[in-house]
Amino acid sequence: CCASWPRSSLAGDLGSSMACMHAAWASAEGGVLLAGSQASPSRLAPPSHLPLHSAPSPCAQYARQPIVQLTLRGMLDMGRDTLKGPACRIASARFVQEELPKRLARRLLDLQLLPHLVVTNPHIHRVYTAYFHTLQTLLAVPPVTSLAQNEEFTALLKRLVDDHAPMLDYLATGLREVRSRPLVGERLHLDPFLENMLRSRISRRTLAEQHMYLNQGRPGYVGVICTNMSVAEGVDFAGQRCRQVCNETYGLAPDVVITGDKRLTIPYVPSHFDYMVYEVLKNSSRAVVERHLQQSAHSALERRLPAIHARICSGEGQVTLRVSDEGGGIPQPLVDRIWEFGFTTMGKELIDGVERTEGLGFDPSFGAGWSVAQIPVTSGNRFRMGGLGFGLPLSRLYARYFGTSAEDGAGGGDLEVRSIQGYGTDTFLTLKKLEDEDWQEEYAEDYTS
Ligand code: ADP
Ligand code: MG
Repeated sequence: CCASWPRSSLAGDLGSSMACMHAAWASAEGGVLLAGSQASPSRLAPPSHLPLHSAPSPCAQYARQPIVQLTLRGMLDMGRDTLKGPACRIASARFVQEELPKRLARRLLDLQLLPHLVVTNPHIHRVYTAYFHTLQTLLAVPPVTSLAQNEEFTALLKRLVDDHAPMLDYLATGLREVRSRPLVGERLHLDPFLENMLRSRISRRTLAEQHMYLNQGRPGYVGVICTNMSVAEGVDFAGQRCRQVCNETYGLAPDVVITGDKRLTIPYVPSHFDYMVYEVLKNSSRAVVERHLQQSAHSALERRLPAIHARICSGEGQVTLRVSDEGGGIPQPLVDRIWEFGFTTMGKELIDGVERTEGLGFDPSFGAGWSVAQIPVTSGNRFRMGGLGFGLPLSRLYARYFGTSAEDGAGGGDLEVRSIQGYGTDTFLTLKKLEDEDWQEEYAEDYTS
């Protein structure tokens, strides 16, 4: 399969796309923005002999190929096979080699279809450039046929995952900038585009990290999946980080009280779980603190901050985490907007007052023995409570990710918000449990050492 990839013609196709992008760039911005790009201009410049419109389009050809959906069960099964021997590890590498380019090609096409205003934004252009180079890089690697090649390929994946860490920030910043343009900005409808970009990002990272971590063979894990992830420990871990950030931002923070089935464990990707719970808890904490500050401004009486309650409920085939806060709820006119990418009510002074620190990525090693020592504090950093407006919509993409129906799998879990105006908000995170539990015994044998 890998040997049949039309590698050489792809470079031409993408080069010509880049030529279009660069032409638009130069004409719109006098070439200044391109020079400001992080990547080396000499590497980025498309070959000058390429026609602007070459056909047929191998990029479209890759984008057209059906992609294999990722499911927890599929990843567990394949991961287990990988431990059987070198041939399976090589097969895993080949699977990644096949799947990543298709996903990148789809997103490159999406980027090419954006309105001029958007593609000429320097941050969005950076994303395009990074995707372009990643696709080129991946296609330049011959199909993995040995363990030595697999090691090299795994190291390359790690580099690519690291390189792509800031892409989400670039997208968010680019989005904010184009939306703020007078007259045209507010008429842009970019949510479907962003949804595809971010779902695909989850998918590519999961694919790459699954292979990387399978090679490490961590006990208790099959790749990135923790086979017995403790839900309560995960909530507690996110809660501690949230309190820390909240304290640093506002000088006070509500407690997070965990109730319900505290002994529940599920097979899940801890970094995904951590992202969602952390975002939900930050929203609740912010609402509670801001409401409290408003109320105490009107009254001399200091009221104790009401705690946030996180209840773990284990049901037939699904797990629900209900996060309840007394932050006053969401004003009715805004309820429908909270799922828009970039929608936020965070005060500008708070956003501007806090340095850019945390990024929206995360460390996939989170999870095994959740510990505050893992909190990525770097000196001088102040964490932010929100303000990009990506927390809810991106968390919902994570929740829905491991499913069975749409492109990269919608229909898995879900994230829902129910606001009780004048009182508070309940946020429900639902995750599917694997249907049969047989794997637990099988995997227990394989992964206890
Ligand atoms: P951000 O936190 O960056 O603003 P989110 O996507 O996390 O972005 O949330 C979007 C908006 O939804 C918030 O700005 C806030 O207005 C509203 N919201 C979310 N959760 C709550 C909550 N628990 N209580 C009140 N408002 C909330
Ligand atoms: Mg938020």
